[in-house]
Amino acid sequence: MSGDDRRGVSGHGGATHPAFPLAPYASHESQSRGRRHPEPAPKYRGEYQRDRDRIVHSTAFRRLVYKTQVFVNHEGDLYRTRLTHSLEVAQIGRSVSRTLGLNETLCEAICLAHDLGHTPFGHAGQDALNECLREHGGFEHNLQSLRVVDELEERYAEFPGLNLTFECREGILKHCSARNARGLGALGQRFLESRQPSLEAQLANVADEIAYNNHDVDDGLRAGLVSCRDLARVALFRRHYETVQGLYPDLQDRRVIHEVVRRMIDEVVTDLIETTRARLAEAAPADAEAVRALAHPLIGLSERIAAEHLELKRFLNEHVYRHFRVVRMTTKAQRVVRELYRAYFDDVRLLPDEHRAAAQRLEASQGVAGRARAVADYIAGMTDRYAIVEHGRLYDPAVPQGPES
Ligand code: MG
Repeated sequence: MSGDDRRGVSGHGGATHPAFPLAPYASHESQSRGRRHPEPAPKYRGEYQRDRDRIVHSTAFRRLVYKTQVFVNHEGDLYRTRLTHSLEVAQIGRSVSRTLGLNETLCEAICLAHDLGHTPFGHAGQDALNECLREHGGFEHNLQSLRVVDELEERYAEFPGLNLTFECREGILKHCSARNARGLGALGQRFLESRQPSLEAQLANVADEIAYNNHDVDDGLRAGLVSCRDLARVALFRRHYETVQGLYPDLQDRRVIHEVVRRMIDEVVTDLIETTRARLAEAAPADAEAVRALAHPLIGLSERIAAEHLELKRFLNEHVYRHFRVVRMTTKAQRVVRELYRAYFDDVRLLPDEHRAAAQRLEASQGVAGRARAVADYIAGMTDRYAIVEHGRLYDPAVPQGPES
């Protein structure tokens, strides 16, 4: 069958459902650039299935349940964590992949892995860590996600990390500074040459934005940071809010919100599919390499919906992410991260054995920047609550020392 990703080598892996054949411009496993450490092909799975399964089994993936997007994990059980966010991103990515004839499994794997390198406390934690490492190469969460899957996971006898395929790693490295790209070989090349990643990677990126813009509306309303009346200033929300109110005048608030968010996601995803389909028809890339050679991404929203989506994002920025209750929380979170970093960097004896060994090893090869990197790896791997507890152990004499890690 042409147009599927059946792997020639094993004859088993990567078979797609006959009802969902892959388009020529999709990522076909037979064209994969493979893994950094060569491995025999899996017997009953495709290579991208193996990627996805390794991601799901990883320690970093499990920790996502205790890491936050906007709200600190212990402040409420109802808000999205990075795990539920990643699942929502994957759900959007999978639906759209199928419709467009893209490789659903690869897209799912990228979506599930895209936030593995995130620090505790969302963007606040990342900004704080980046600031701490200013003199030592900085901290980029996309690069850290790659570091997690390439180096930091310790699960396999034969290699460090998860040894994922090139295409999965390409998708995980969503952004990268030119300085860091230069050290990444083939994977960094596209940031220096303004080339594109695969369609599955482009899709994971847009699915991420759609997921968080919409669930942050839901979480922001639930937390009482904004009201439906505030949100009605945003065209995308207003349109569906008015429709839902017109159709169901007596519906209780919670169901109104969910109905509106559901309709917003549906409209944006539908637009994404139709806009992308038209762009694909026009560009008619012969294969995934032709997609990569283009100057602009093919996956995207129409001008109108992109503008409305941006309006929503700006609204959330101003009224949710900068709400004093969120700022109060993020300021506290940044202080925790900064003080953890300061304590460990100044005295590596405070690190648990394996992290101290990593700090000494990296310092021996890279100088103080190596020590800083090992400290950042340790902090970035922490969950929100672990960071808070550990901060107490380091700074508050009243907090019991507790068991190691
Ligand atoms: Mg994300």
